[in-house]
Amino acid sequence: MKLQNPSLFRERALIDNTWHSAQSGDTIDVFNPFNHQKIGIIPNLSADEVRGAIATATTAQQAWSKKTAHERADILHRWADLIDDNLDDLAIIMTSEQGKPLKESQSEIRYANSFIRFFAEEGKRVYGDTIPAKSTNLRHIVLKEPVGVCACITPWNFPSAMITRKVAPALAVGCAMIVKPDSQTPFSALALGKLAIQAGLPAGILQIVTGQAEMIGEIFSTDNHIKKLSFTGSTRVGKLLMAQSAPTLKKLSLELGGNAPFIIFDDANLDEAINGLIMSKYRNAGQTCVCANRVYVQRGIFETFLEKFTTKVRSLTVGNGMDNPDMACLINEQALQKTQALLSDALAKGATLITGGSTHTDYPTCFLPTIITNITEDMDIAHAEIFAPIAPVFVFDDEEEVIKKANATPYGLASYFYTQNHARAWRVAERLECGMVAQNTGLLSTEVAPFGGIKESGFGREGSKYGLDEYLTIKYWCINME
Ligand code: NAP
Repeated sequence: MKLQNPSLFRERALIDNTWHSAQSGDTIDVFNPFNHQKIGIIPNLSADEVRGAIATATTAQQAWSKKTAHERADILHRWADLIDDNLDDLAIIMTSEQGKPLKESQSEIRYANSFIRFFAEEGKRVYGDTIPAKSTNLRHIVLKEPVGVCACITPWNFPSAMITRKVAPALAVGCAMIVKPDSQTPFSALALGKLAIQAGLPAGILQIVTGQAEMIGEIFSTDNHIKKLSFTGSTRVGKLLMAQSAPTLKKLSLELGGNAPFIIFDDANLDEAINGLIMSKYRNAGQTCVCANRVYVQRGIFETFLEKFTTKVRSLTVGNGMDNPDMACLINEQALQKTQALLSDALAKGATLITGGSTHTDYPTCFLPTIITNITEDMDIAHAEIFAPIAPVFVFDDEEEVIKKANATPYGLASYFYTQNHARAWRVAERLECGMVAQNTGLLSTEVAPFGGIKESGFGREGSKYGLDEYLTIKYWCINME
C-alpha cells in the first residue's frame, strides 16, 4: 500500500485519543480480499479494554455537550477538510481492505464526508418548541438534548460512509461515539479516527475499538452508560442486538438487510432503466443493502430489455479494484461460496443462465456479472438477499401482480421502478412497502434525505434532519408561572 501520508494506516485501536494494542498482545489479521495478502493487524481488545473506552467517553461527553453547536461544527468541518485533503490515500486504504474499484472508494469517501459537512451545519438547527398552553399561567417548552454516550457497529461494504453517517450527527449534537468497525475493513475507520484527532476532536469523543464482535456487541447493548446503539449489518445480528438491548431499553437504530425489487414498466425509457439497473445491481459487486435484488420486467418489453441489458453487462470490466475496473472482487471466500450455491440451486431448478455464472478465469475472487431468467418461487434466489453480482430477471404482466410480488418479502429497505406515467408512479410509490423508493433512477442515497427501512430491514433513519433525531432526546418542560 503506497500512501502519500503513511501515518493514516493505523494498526491500533483508538481510545482516549491514543493508539492502543491489546494488553494481551492478541491481534486479528486483515487481508486484501482480491489477492488474500495480509495487509495488517488490529488489536483483539478484551472486555475490560472496551469498558475502559466507555468510561472515557462517559467523562468526555459531559464537556463536549457543553460546547456550542458552532464550536463542534468548526471541528467537524476541519475533519472534513482533512478527509478531502487525504482522499486518494483513504481510497487506497479502502480498496486494499474492501476490494471495490478505486473510483468507487473515492466516491464513497466523498459521500462519507458529505455527512460530516451536512451534520456540522444541521447541528446548529436543533430547534425545540414552545407549545401554546391551555391556561394562561402555564408554559410548555420542548428541549432537545444529546442522548449521551453512543456506540455503533458497522459492516464491511461501505467502510467509511456507514461510520460517518452515524458519527457525524452524534458528534454534532454533543454525543460521544464508540465505533466497532467490521474486522475485515477496520483501516478505513482508523484512518478517519487519525484525521479526527488531527482536526482537534477532544479525547474520548470518537473512539474506535476492535476485537471479537459478539463480545463487543454484548457490552454495547447491555452497558447502561451506552444510551444509544446504532447498527448497520445483517438482519440476524440486528435482531440479536435488539434482544440483548431489551433489559436496558436502549435507544436503537437498525439498518439491516434488503431485498429491493427493481420494476421496469413497458412505458419506461428502456436505456435509462438499464443504466440505472446496472448501477444499482453491479455497484460494489452487488454488495450493497440497496442493490436491485429482484428485477421485474413487463412482458411486452422483456425480449428487447434482455438483449440490451445482456450486451451492456457483457461489456463490464472485472478485475483488481486497484486497476479501476467496473467491478471487482467479492469480500471473502464465504461470499463466493454463497453466490455459487444460490446460482447452482437456481440452475438445478430450471433457471436459464444468460451471461456470467462463474468466477473470472484470471481473477478467482471476482464473480462475473451474471443474469438469469426463468426464476421460480421454489428457488432460494427468489427470496434471499443475494449480495453478489447476479441479476435474477422475472417477467410480469400487470401493475397489481408486480406490486404484490415486490411486497412479498419480510424486508422493506429500497425499491426502484421505471415508468413515465405519473398516475402509475403515484400508485406504485404509495403501495410499495419500503423505507425508500426510487423512480427513474438507480441511485437514491444522499446525505440530505432519510435513509432507512421498514419491516425486517430495521428502523431509524440516517442522513437528513431525521438522522439528527436519532441522537437526541426530547425533554418536555412544564412551567407554572403563578
Ligand atoms: P453482519 O455479519 O451483521 O456484520 C456487520 C457487523 O456486525 C460487523 O461489524 C460484524 O463484526 C458485526 N457482528 C457480527 N456478529 C455480531 C454479533 N453477534 N454481535 C455484534 N456485532 C456483530 O453483516 P454482513 O453480512 O457482514 O454485512 C452485510 C449486511 O449488512 C447485509 O445484510 C446488508 O444488507 C446490511 N447492510 C445494511 C445497510 C443499511 O443501511 N440498511 C447498509 C449496509 C449493509 P465482525 O466483522 O467483526 O464480525
